[in-house]
Amino acid sequence: MSLHDRSGLGPNLDVEDLVVIRPDQLNDLIARLGDLGYETKGPTIGDGAIVPGAVRGTSDLPVGARDAQSPGRYRLEYSDDGHLFEWAVGARSWKAEFFAPRERQWRAVIVDGTLRFTEPTKSARPLAIIGARPCEVAAISVLDEVLMNGACPDTGYDARREGLFVVVAECTAPGGTCFCASMGSGPSAGPGFDLALLELDDADGHRFVVRVGTARGAEVMAGVSSTSATDADVAARAQALDRSINRMHRHLQTEGLAALLARSMESPRWDQIAERCLSCGNCTLVCPTCFCSDFRDTTDVSGAVERTRTWSSCFDLDHSYLHGGPVRASTSSRYRQWMSHKLSTWWDQFDTSGCVGCGRCITWCPVGIDITEEAAAIRGDDEAARAVHVEEEAR
Ligand code: SF4
Ligand code: SF4
Repeated sequence: MSLHDRSGLGPNLDVEDLVVIRPDQLNDLIARLGDLGYETKGPTIGDGAIVPGAVRGTSDLPVGARDAQSPGRYRLEYSDDGHLFEWAVGARSWKAEFFAPRERQWRAVIVDGTLRFTEPTKSARPLAIIGARPCEVAAISVLDEVLMNGACPDTGYDARREGLFVVVAECTAPGGTCFCASMGSGPSAGPGFDLALLELDDADGHRFVVRVGTARGAEVMAGVSSTSATDADVAARAQALDRSINRMHRHLQTEGLAALLARSMESPRWDQIAERCLSCGNCTLVCPTCFCSDFRDTTDVSGAVERTRTWSSCFDLDHSYLHGGPVRASTSSRYRQWMSHKLSTWWDQFDTSGCVGCGRCITWCPVGIDITEEAAAIRGDDEAARAVHVEEEAR
């Protein structure tokens, strides 16, 4: 079957069209993507959490799962309602699909006196992600700016990213640490998806409103039976998204934030955070946009040499090692580097925020340090210091 096969049951659709499918038709959509040659992956349950995994049908998705998240805490709970997307995000983001935690860059061997380099072979099948969250799609766009569109493109990232098909699941059940509404990255999907699903279950039954994002998405949907969205479906979708925003209790005030952090390098708050921060680096490992890496060259007895890239972290003491010592020796300087890069200097480098408000760094921080709370505290200290300054000037 080719992408242009129109022998299916669905109507011809345009970008931004809304149609409705039932759970068995979502199953058909996943099967169609597989038939079109995609490797189909999505959220699954593993290790007591929602994790990316192989998805060949709706039964592989987290059926009935709910997540209870708060700073330093994550638990899955279950319902028998058959809902597929009533959870937020787990620890593992889609970043690892394109930017592997550990990856061989090249291997060199001497053959007949000549050094021969080989690179790892890339998967021939493009990836289709079914059920990525809007914040995760936003995070992929951020990584694209860093690893694909920047001055030094990462060819491995580019190769794995190529041909990606995204079915985003818009959020109706934000987690306890989410703040995507503040960052403009959710709960409805922004750019970067081919199809967007929103799950509804009301008097009209369990169904998904599908928004077409690209011509490619329209072509895929043309092979899946669907019905046009009614006014009631459109209204229910809008209400679900509004409810989702209202249920999001965390907020990050982004106005002037980059400049605020840039002038707060000497804030006493960094030392206060360091009294709790373990410098473990969990926040950077779970973050869908952190991209620090390290390279190791190794040899074996045959004389072959390998270069391996691994994820690193700005909390790793060695990561800032320069001419005899780490530049950021204290925990406060490492936390400051992480947060001020995410929310301030990322703008200078990549013209975007480095944070999409997924809340992972809050949930998976063992001591529950909350980036929204720390940004608010630094803002409060800054406002207090400015008020004192104005008072002194007035005297
Ligand atoms: S900084 Fe935290 S909330 Fe922001 S994208 Fe990274 S993990 Fe998500
Ligand atoms: S903020 Fe939390 S997760 Fe990040 S390094 Fe400190 S203790 Fe670890």
